[in-house]
Amino acid sequence: MSELTRQNFLKMMAAGVAGLGLDTSVAARAARAADPKLTKPRTLIREADILSMDPKIGEMSSADVLIENGKIAAIGKGLSADMAEVVDAQGMILMPGMVDGHRHVWQTPIAGAMVKTSQRYGKDYIFWSMRIRMAVTPEYMHFLNYYGSLLAINSGVTSVVDNVHLLYTPELGDAAARGSIDAGVGGIFGFQLSGSRAYGLGDTVTRKQIISEIFSPPMEWHFKAAETIRNKYFSDADAPMQFGVHLSNFVGFGQAAQVREEMARIRAMKPALILEDVQAIKGPRHPGVLYSIADMNAEGLLGPDLLISHGNEITDAELAMMAASGTKVASSAWGEFPYPAPSIHGRALKAGVDSCVGTDGGFAPLDFFELVRATYLSLFRYPEGMAQARGVESADILAFSTSRGAAAIGMGDQLGSISVGKRADMVLLSTDRPGFPLLGNLADRVVNYGQLSDIDSVWIAGRLRKSGGRMIGVDWKALADRNRVIQAALARGEASIKMES
Ligand SMILES: [Zn+2]
Repeated sequence: MSELTRQNFLKMMAAGVAGLGLDTSVAARAARAADPKLTKPRTLIREADILSMDPKIGEMSSADVLIENGKIAAIGKGLSADMAEVVDAQGMILMPGMVDGHRHVWQTPIAGAMVKTSQRYGKDYIFWSMRIRMAVTPEYMHFLNYYGSLLAINSGVTSVVDNVHLLYTPELGDAAARGSIDAGVGGIFGFQLSGSRAYGLGDTVTRKQIISEIFSPPMEWHFKAAETIRNKYFSDADAPMQFGVHLSNFVGFGQAAQVREEMARIRAMKPALILEDVQAIKGPRHPGVLYSIADMNAEGLLGPDLLISHGNEITDAELAMMAASGTKVASSAWGEFPYPAPSIHGRALKAGVDSCVGTDGGFAPLDFFELVRATYLSLFRYPEGMAQARGVESADILAFSTSRGAAAIGMGDQLGSISVGKRADMVLLSTDRPGFPLLGNLADRVVNYGQLSDIDSVWIAGRLRKSGGRMIGVDWKALADRNRVIQAALARGEASIKMES
């Protein structure tokens, strides 16, 4: 168990010590003052069973990890470090922080409002979503992204690709970015270049109006707001969260010329990642419209800075184009289940395309281990996947949410494994729960049996965010109370927009 209790933490904060867990004695303070390198947190995690996800390291039993200046400084047996906060992790499993490659963070605090196991979902999801979002004010937006990001961290997700598709005004974008940064989650803030206020609270709208709102092209202010937010919040290349841009539309809903221009303007902004949804489009095809990865490839739009979401029906030939261009894919596994084609993880792995797991909307469970398992189960939805499943190990499955997942969001050299020099994004699992298996290798145990409730500690860039199973400095009760008020306001707002068929 971690020795760092909440009381200790608060005491240290009160003492003005920025570095968590540092020895606060006079001598130690003097030494620290003399060595600027030591003014940042230093933590020694002792005697953990390490599930590194680094092929050179593999699994190690009862070994130590030293965190220094937010990075993993050393891994080995019997490490020692002066003036380090020591975490006794004997019998516990230390693994990399997990990566979520596709999430709409704002939706997680309103989880339950719309679930996939209801008749309503298929009929109403999009119309519900497009009405409730009109009730989101900048104040609510900040809360939703803040609370939603804390929920991610609590579940062991240290990096999330947030597809922020709720940007109807520049102020909403600003509030969303602040919410994510205040929560301190890592990953990508994916600013989507669309959204207008074609209708609002109290209006009566047609389904057609809502559909045209979804596919509204970017406006000049979207580009301007994206740039402003990038400069204001995401100028530090070392910060856990980096700036990304989501194209205005799904592939299949934009004229080639418009997508080309949009992509050129996005690339000029040099985002860390570009996001785009690709799903099979049914119905007639119109000339001059991009419908698929093959169409994007023909336009020269693919590249290593591009992460495709969904993409279940991407063909093998298209996967080859993605592999050749370095394009990546995020598939939600759990969320893709109702679609005709299964999640693409197995086929992407075979084709050499980096892929990651995503939660997608607020309909998916926030216990990320369930999504890890869904990635495996998805292989059994098609014959080649079933054959492939016979050849994978537990670590291959976990890689979609760690090492390979990090590569898929363009951060493979910075995170995704416990390796010296990588960012100290880590999760420590307790193995005390009755029924938590004691047999098998670490990946077998985590992939098959891991649960959110097993998470004892979480570090992001070396900063301890959760300890002893509790988020540090987070008052869940107060957040839940505030959330209830916001949920009610959003529901009222949604109900005030009447729909004509
Ligand atoms: Zn989505």
